[in-house]
Amino acid sequence: MKKDQVVFGIDIGGTNSKMGLFDLEGNLLKSHHRPTNKNIDPDNFIAELAQDCNEMLKSTLNIQLGDPRVLGVGAGAPMANTVTGMVGYAPNLGWHNVPLKYLFEKHFKTKAAIENDAHLAAVGENRWGAGKELKHFVLITLGTGVGSGLILNKKLHVGFQGLGGEGGHVLIAHTKERQCSCGGMNHIESYLSAQGIKQTIQEMIGEAWSIEKLGQEFKAGHSKATEVIHTIAGELARGLVSIAVVVGPEAFIIGGGVSNLGEPFNKIVLEKFDELVHFSLRGRVKIIQASLSSDKGAIYGGAAYILDEVLH
Ligand SMILES: [Zn+2]
Repeated sequence: MKKDQVVFGIDIGGTNSKMGLFDLEGNLLKSHHRPTNKNIDPDNFIAELAQDCNEMLKSTLNIQLGDPRVLGVGAGAPMANTVTGMVGYAPNLGWHNVPLKYLFEKHFKTKAAIENDAHLAAVGENRWGAGKELKHFVLITLGTGVGSGLILNKKLHVGFQGLGGEGGHVLIAHTKERQCSCGGMNHIESYLSAQGIKQTIQEMIGEAWSIEKLGQEFKAGHSKATEVIHTIAGELARGLVSIAVVVGPEAFIIGGGVSNLGEPFNKIVLEKFDELVHFSLRGRVKIIQASLSSDKGAIYGGAAYILDEVLH
């Protein structure tokens, strides 16, 4: 392992795309972002990302793409499938059958691996974050959608044809009916996505609060805000109970933009989880906060993911 070797971690989101240049110890040397341009061909868009990354290389190490010191690029994108190297259909990007791994290898002139963003965030926490000391955990990202990544025996588990680990679409028992973005009913994502939480705030408080405001009012002891927090914590806990009895994790790690509700929220989720979970797991599963920053988790994960591939 040479000191000046680097990898890129990239996260293509529905709105923004983030890029990070990392050394092999996981130090972020430089980062950059640009709006995800959905109006151009994915081939041209990846070429734009490569240009940005080339600038980062020049300014940081005075080298360019194609230099052997660049060991690879790990990239996350919605619906990215690590097994096929393709993005089959990503409604948020308007992409159909995009050979994403091939495009990264072509424009970055190095080895590439792709995965979905929540899976990558789990890989990042596993290598450098809150999951470093854990062997089995499930990362849950609460953001625009609800994603998950399963780390079993220190390895990402993606299941048959890379289609597993979609914990956001676990069914939860509920007295209400609410559609999920996927078309299904009463999935965790129906209630815990940013939109789902805002809908619950509207239904229970009758006002259009942001999630930040919900967090502030909850900390200030506002009774309605506390009720909303207990409601959504209960919804998440019911989903986690179903995941836990199958997986048997040491911990759930909560990340994503909505995770700034933080430890007080996680504590309530854990109380409700322990009320409902099978007795064999009661008191044994932790719920902890992701430690890589919520907006950069997937680029750390991308870097960790490609490092696993090139170093092993
Ligand atoms: Zn769903």
